[in-house]
Amino acid sequence: MENKNMLMIPGPTPVPENVLLAMAKHPIGHRSGEFSNVIAELTENLKWLHQTQNDVLMLTTSGTGAMEAGIINFLSAGDQVLVGNNGKFGERWAKLSKKFGLNVTEITAEWGHPLNPEDFRTALEADTNKEIKAVIITHSETSTGVLNDLETINKYVKAHGEALIIVDAVTSLGAFNVPVDEWGLDVVGSGSQKGYMIPPGLAFVSVSAKAWKAYETATLPKFYLDLKAYKKATDQDSSPFTPPVNLMNGLQAALQMMKREGLDNIFARHQRLTNATRAAMKALNLPLYAPDHAASTAITAVCSDDAEKIRSTMKKKFDIALAGGQDHLKGKIFRIGHLGFVGERDVLTAIASLEATLIELGHQGFTPGAGIAAAAKELL
Ligand SMILES: *Cc1c(COP(=O)(O)O)cnc(C)c1O
Repeated sequence: MENKNMLMIPGPTPVPENVLLAMAKHPIGHRSGEFSNVIAELTENLKWLHQTQNDVLMLTTSGTGAMEAGIINFLSAGDQVLVGNNGKFGERWAKLSKKFGLNVTEITAEWGHPLNPEDFRTALEADTNKEIKAVIITHSETSTGVLNDLETINKYVKAHGEALIIVDAVTSLGAFNVPVDEWGLDVVGSGSQKGYMIPPGLAFVSVSAKAWKAYETATLPKFYLDLKAYKKATDQDSSPFTPPVNLMNGLQAALQMMKREGLDNIFARHQRLTNATRAAMKALNLPLYAPDHAASTAITAVCSDDAEKIRSTMKKKFDIALAGGQDHLKGKIFRIGHLGFVGERDVLTAIASLEATLIELGHQGFTPGAGIAAAAKELL
């Protein structure tokens, strides 16, 4: 049916109507006093979302731009870093770090499994000369639906004392508790098309005082992504270059909505949706790719050799977009996104449509209605 598309992918995520309407306004000058007020409000609300007094800077890039900024502003070629790699985005951290000449030690876990914090502890405790400059990890590994134990890994980073903790929080910020100040996270990157409920095009980086200290001696070249320029401008409620004015109007509306809902409610909603989705898959005898104790609250990966047929039927018959597997997981899993502007009705709709799809594809071995019943129980 025309105009009935439902996004259940881990980005871009659905956008609320009031956000779309806010973006439909005629652009205003980005150096105007009126827009200055918008930037001031955004900065304040971004700090609220990040639970921090640190700088939170807005970049006109996708999420990967925030990742790159997180590397080139605080490190120098040859610097020793530990990179967690247990999926597509951990792999991206490793590639990016190597591209800029960092001396990368990868700490890996099999796809579908969380990184083992003890591996970080061992490497950090062995570094008595304090040569490790940063520990770089993906919090919610979107490719597999695994949530890494950032809190514990970060404790070992803090015990090391020297290393910065640099985090890809692209699908955890706004979906899971990421208390930047309480945990002392140095650099945290995220992107607009995930938990922020706005379209792609903006990225965010929060920067601690310790990271700014590292900035002073970091020698990698930077221009467009030089975060000092963003800090200087942001401190004056301005931006170094022309920002995406309309997208930021959308962000203004989205952050206001998030504040009305409240952080605890937002996190609880994502947890509920995750629990319901996972319970439904279990009831349908569809194996989950990530274990219960390390489940991302943004996305659930489900194993099926019929994944691509399931996705195309869901799309064709029900206008529901699910994500597929990446790399060697292509055709082996499908991924249900449930972050951002996603509610219980959306998850129930997706599960019911999935059941109908399984029936249509002739799948045996499940009781029709069992998925919905299990999800409904979680949503009580
Ligand atoms: C989406 C995503 C990114 C950023 O990807 P872009 O396409 O550059 O926006 C980075 N990390 C994770 C974990 C993601 O899910």
